[in-house]
Amino acid sequence: MIMIRKKITLKLLIYTVLIILLITQCSGPKKNIPPWNKNIQVILDNTTPLEYDLNNRLPLYLWPAIDPGELDQDAAERLVKELSIRGVGIVSSWSAQDIEKTMSQCLTIARAQKKLGQRVNINATSLLYSFFNGDERTGHIDKYGEPFFDSSFGDMKMGCPFAIDFRKKEIRERVELFVKKYKDEGLPLDFIFTDWEIDGPLEVNHAFEASKKCIVCQKYLGDDFSFSVFQDQVREMRSYLQNYSYSEPVLKQFPDALVGNYAVYPNDGYRYWYDYFEYYVDGQPCKEDQHAKYRQWNNDFPATGYTYAMPVVYTWDSIYYWYDFENTDYRWFYNMLLVASNAGKSTPQSIPVISFVHWNTIFVSGKSDPSITQMSKECYQELLWHMLLRGTDTFFMWSSKNEFPEEVRLVHEVYADAQKFGNFLENGQPINYNVPKMPGTIISGLALGDSVLIRRTDFGRNHDPVEIFAGTKLITVDYTPGECIVLALN
Ligand SMILES: [Zn+2]
Repeated sequence: MIMIRKKITLKLLIYTVLIILLITQCSGPKKNIPPWNKNIQVILDNTTPLEYDLNNRLPLYLWPAIDPGELDQDAAERLVKELSIRGVGIVSSWSAQDIEKTMSQCLTIARAQKKLGQRVNINATSLLYSFFNGDERTGHIDKYGEPFFDSSFGDMKMGCPFAIDFRKKEIRERVELFVKKYKDEGLPLDFIFTDWEIDGPLEVNHAFEASKKCIVCQKYLGDDFSFSVFQDQVREMRSYLQNYSYSEPVLKQFPDALVGNYAVYPNDGYRYWYDYFEYYVDGQPCKEDQHAKYRQWNNDFPATGYTYAMPVVYTWDSIYYWYDFENTDYRWFYNMLLVASNAGKSTPQSIPVISFVHWNTIFVSGKSDPSITQMSKECYQELLWHMLLRGTDTFFMWSSKNEFPEEVRLVHEVYADAQKFGNFLENGQPINYNVPKMPGTIISGLALGDSVLIRRTDFGRNHDPVEIFAGTKLITVDYTPGECIVLALN
């Protein structure tokens, strides 16, 4: 009896192995598809091929699509193709650390992108760090002649804006090295971004107080300089450094490249959000709105030489407490649309707006706050639609790793659906940048020729038709939740 059972078990085992082998042969991982790294797999799992041709529209940029790892030429081409049919652009990071390895990985992707007619996209963040490299020569100087640093930016030793001129050449040479390599290899350079934030001249946090104690700053700015004078001076210097060390060397070789930096965009004189390392300091000029303090901002974009704008439209936790709207979704939507509309209305039509976006609440302290109601997914996607109809050309999704799947899916759905209206997105003119002070009807639109693409979203109870000017023509917009409509303008 035992013998028989053993025989049956052995037979079963053999059959099972055979069946598994057969299944693997037929439908298992095909030989020519390598296992992509985890981040790439997340993108493939949470996006679908586009239904409509992208034409000239910029690709969707996603944090997990940065640096897909070491690939041979064949695999790189397959990956570029896989992502391009989804409208997603692969980004390669330049680094001065391990130049040979970095260069080889970046060039492999770039060759594949060139061959397949896709944009070559670069992250040059690490090349720009750091102007304030800790060198004593970069410090402020106190009245006893001793160098000192401003400690209001965490670990970064932020020094004197008048002391870093000698740093600009080294940084520029790093950029030039990579740019030259691409040029020599006959490769294009289409899109390049940096996430250069806590470094170089800045006026935020306690930088102003630090400067007031510095004899060098006093020498150049006077004995009793105001915050506005200080802000204009440091922003001018900040723009100059970005131009000298980064945008100019890129554009010199690749005049048509899109060059930009995180959080640098034309504005209406105010900043409607705070970065994770920034906070308000009493006395700094601002515009108040409920509990929010929108800081006075310098228009630092033009002097950078950047060829696209890069606003940051994120769910910073503080936003939730800035407003008293009972509809908690509107707290998020209101602020984030203010940020997006500011960039949209302030940026010339000829300059693309590539907006950083993020959905999950960002708990700046690192500790989650259970009293905060997360923005709903539906509301976030509505926001993305309105951004597209108010000047945003494409998105750059940033998130932490565990948030990748959902963040990728939400932004890709809107990006892909919007391609139905590709002609409007590429050539249309925004008709409205108004953000209502109370939850109500939001209308955004893109006028093109004799028609206008409209999105209407309602946070109030009014579902009646609403009238709005599309250029010089008064149009009537019906209640049409969750969809875009095209109206005639004649
Ligand atoms: Zn100083």
